[in-house]
Amino acid sequence: MSLTMKPFHLVINGKKVSTDHSFEVLNPANEKVAGHAPLAGKIHLDDAVQAAMAAFKTWREVPESERQAACLEIASKIEENAEEFAHILTAEQGKPLNGLGSRWEIGGAMAWTQYTASLSLSMKVLQDNDEGRVELHRKPIGVVGSITPWNFPVMIAIWHIIPAVLSGNTVVSKPSPFTPLSTLRLVELMNEVLPKGVVNCITGKDELGAAMTVHEGIGKIVFTGSCATGQKIMANSAETMKRLTLELGGNDAGIVLPDVDPKQIAEGLFWGAFINSGQTCAALKRLYVHDDVYDSVCDELVDLAGQMKVGEGVNEDVVLGPIQNRKQYDIVDDLVQSAKSKGRVLLGGDPKEMQKEMGGKGYFYPLTIIADLENGDALVDEEQFGPVLPIIRYHQINEAIEKANDNPNGLGGSVWSQNIGEAKKIANRMECGSVWINKHGMIQPNAPFGGVKRSGFGVEFAEEGLEEYTDIQVVFS
Ligand code: NAD
Repeated sequence: MSLTMKPFHLVINGKKVSTDHSFEVLNPANEKVAGHAPLAGKIHLDDAVQAAMAAFKTWREVPESERQAACLEIASKIEENAEEFAHILTAEQGKPLNGLGSRWEIGGAMAWTQYTASLSLSMKVLQDNDEGRVELHRKPIGVVGSITPWNFPVMIAIWHIIPAVLSGNTVVSKPSPFTPLSTLRLVELMNEVLPKGVVNCITGKDELGAAMTVHEGIGKIVFTGSCATGQKIMANSAETMKRLTLELGGNDAGIVLPDVDPKQIAEGLFWGAFINSGQTCAALKRLYVHDDVYDSVCDELVDLAGQMKVGEGVNEDVVLGPIQNRKQYDIVDDLVQSAKSKGRVLLGGDPKEMQKEMGGKGYFYPLTIIADLENGDALVDEEQFGPVLPIIRYHQINEAIEKANDNPNGLGGSVWSQNIGEAKKIANRMECGSVWINKHGMIQPNAPFGGVKRSGFGVEFAEEGLEEYTDIQVVFS
């Protein structure tokens, strides 16, 4: 059955729930309807929160080992249904089935679930002597509201839901209106494993997310998305004092030192910047290159980018897909057009030519590399979130570090050098939550990940990420 015909339902209290209205989900590769998602209203949100509150009473008492086993079973469900997931994801998100696309995302979701299932939050004894015993306990918060973006819909839903349920919370998940179908299917499968009400999924427009942030029954919001929405969520959550994890936008800088071999680092730089067509929070979004290797790094990158096949994700030889939606396409194009008069276009930059190549359909944007830009140019200062890389020349390392830090965001960064010791010293001076050396954006489930400055607060992954779904209770005896 094609996705357009397949009925998708909300998942509330373990049941599939139909709604009176639905909304269209477009395939960004051809602008045709990929499927229809149910349009939830306030009543569905209330029902989902109610179900999650009821389920919390028992789920929190379930032994941790049983919750771990349930998460492992979810990982198996994802594995068994991986191909179906990959096709839904490619249809609604646009990313290719192959390369670092849908199959890779589903594999990552499974691996993340398995690893997270191995984590444990044990009680810590802070003191045990003649004056008394002090124990630190981690208690689940209650109902967690998960709000996700459209770039990695399945992986990010897993990043939110699995640690929440593992630590004894229950969840109301609300995916992006651009990519709701894969999350609806994911939560449907989770409900084959979990007791009713532990994970619920509602889909609708942005107002539904806003309603979650003021809902009395929700104790925490975990949000991945733009800085602007993160700020609204923070303001809206104040009234009910919700706990927050905010994973927001990034404008990651990479600094290339003069001792690199440009040919050797080109592939790492390329995929660091262009993974998921640049629609990745921790992608390389500004590249600072030392004068000594500037021209050869530019040449190698252009050469490599020219070999990449962009197209409809269902074609098995495609490695990069379109931009996910029209609004993002326009943001990317405005930034590129404004940069053309400031810098030197080395590759791409002309979306009309690309449109012609693609038969006039889909939000395809040419892989674009623009050199000789500077801080102060919009394409350098703002997050492009698309397949475009600005390159900036530098002469002194202090100048490069200062420019890399001169940005309100602080998600990730990278240093490229043969001298690891020197690279680590530079990493230490970068204002961001993660720094990679000779690679970029390689997040992993055993290392905490989060932003500093306006890229948000709180971390995901590892034990530190799990702790974010708990409140501390200290028991003195
Ligand atoms: P977005 O902020 O527009 O939307 C994200 C989600 O928030 C959607 O589900 C949307 O419906 C919901 N939403 C919108 N308004 C809301 C409101 N007022 N209250 C509550 N929820 C609301 O972001 P997007 O365009 O989907 O994603 C792109 C952005 O996400 C980029 O800036 C990117 O850097 C960032 N991002 C960050 C990370 C990270 O881990 N730091 C990961 C992926 C994406």
